[in-house]
Amino acid sequence: MIIILVNYTRVSSLMKKLETYDVVIVGAGAAGIGMGVVLRDLGLENFAILERHQIGESFRRWPQEMNFITPSFPGHGFGQLDLNAIARKTSPAIIFRREHLNGNQYAKYLEIIADRISLPVHTGVEVQKIEVSPQCHGFGIHVPDGVIQAQFVIWAAGEFQYPNLNPFPGADLCLHNSQVDSWTQLQGDEFTILGGYESGMDAAVNLVALGKKVKVLDRSGTWGNTDPDPSVSLSPYTLQRVELCCSTGRLELIGNVAIEEVTAIPSGYAIHSEYDKWISPTQPIICTGFEGSLKRIANLFNWSDGYARLNDEDESTITPGLFVVGPSVRHDKAIFCFIYKFRQRFAVVANSIARRLDLDPAALEVYRDEGMFLDDLSCCDNDCIC
Ligand SMILES: Cc1cc2nc3c(=O)[nH]c(=O)nc-3n(C[C@H](O)[C@H](O)[C@H](O)COP(=O)(O)OP(=O)(O)OC[C@H]3O[C@@H](n4cnc5c(N)ncnc54)[C@H](O)[C@@H]3O)c2cc1C
Repeated sequence: MIIILVNYTRVSSLMKKLETYDVVIVGAGAAGIGMGVVLRDLGLENFAILERHQIGESFRRWPQEMNFITPSFPGHGFGQLDLNAIARKTSPAIIFRREHLNGNQYAKYLEIIADRISLPVHTGVEVQKIEVSPQCHGFGIHVPDGVIQAQFVIWAAGEFQYPNLNPFPGADLCLHNSQVDSWTQLQGDEFTILGGYESGMDAAVNLVALGKKVKVLDRSGTWGNTDPDPSVSLSPYTLQRVELCCSTGRLELIGNVAIEEVTAIPSGYAIHSEYDKWISPTQPIICTGFEGSLKRIANLFNWSDGYARLNDEDESTITPGLFVVGPSVRHDKAIFCFIYKFRQRFAVVANSIARRLDLDPAALEVYRDEGMFLDDLSCCDNDCIC
């Protein structure tokens, strides 16, 4: 017996009709919506996308001034899908006539896709727990008003809404970049940012643009990293903005700093590393990353070096039928943290589910033709001849 009572009207009418789903996708961000499109193309009818807030919620929560670092460009007519597209024959660049979209624009793009193909998205439904349910050969998915059953679960709940708020002692005195609505709301003239990868540098660039003086402390000094993989080094877009900021004299970059603690002092905050100390008159801003949503269902995975272990089809190695899509997918050195990377695994997951549900996977071939069906990871090579 399944109890499904959700307040939201669109949710309740749809869910009452369907007692058990073949597939439930958790999260309606870039990964959840993109995965939903592929399931639709496969001809799957009996699936649902459960979203605790609204479609594209994480993007709506980005600081107002933050833009995509990956450029959008309408290249799909010549076999090059827009880097930020999550579905074939779509291009955020065409909808917004912008190269670097902001979060609200991207959320709108996801919403348009979901509407256009009537994806079964149920908003306002928070997944609280997932249990393996042997009696129905699938999963019990706990939502506030009951338990939904599904044979397969695809986890797409992302990272942005699950920040790591405790990377070192005293971090509770700091402000995490995911808690900032707009950089214009911060009081003060001098800021210290802890962490210099994309979020940290974006914070720095925006504060410098507002006329503030900014110091960035980073463990390795990402700005000097020339690794060709943008999952490891800064993007060209960020580097060119940082260069401009440095020319103002208001941006100071300090590398090789492992922060050990932040303490409150009468003049503000002291930031301690093993050998040094820096004073910040304003709350330090932590941009040291995200814990990620998988920690919420950590018991369903084997973990190694902080990453959930997945098989070749992005399924948990210890919980058959539980798949992961989005930035947490990792296979050795292949890091799928950008949209143009993780969208290539949707068809891999869909293919695996098609096989087990006895569905014809032929519809997925077009994904292979368009570079959106990456099942051979030996070709993920960042080598570059110049
Ligand atoms: C600061 C920052 C900048 C970035 N810039 C770029 C970029 O320029 N280009 C690029 O390609 N990538 C970029 N990325 C990475 C990219 O944005 C993320 O990888 C992308 O948002 C991931 O999409 P997702 O669908 O996995 O997660 P999200 O977009 O976070 O979507 C997850 C969804 O799940 C919902 N959810 C969460 N928990 C639950 C639950 N328990 N129950 C139900 N629903 C739930 C959330 O509300 C959300 O809507 C950036 C990431 C960050 C953090």
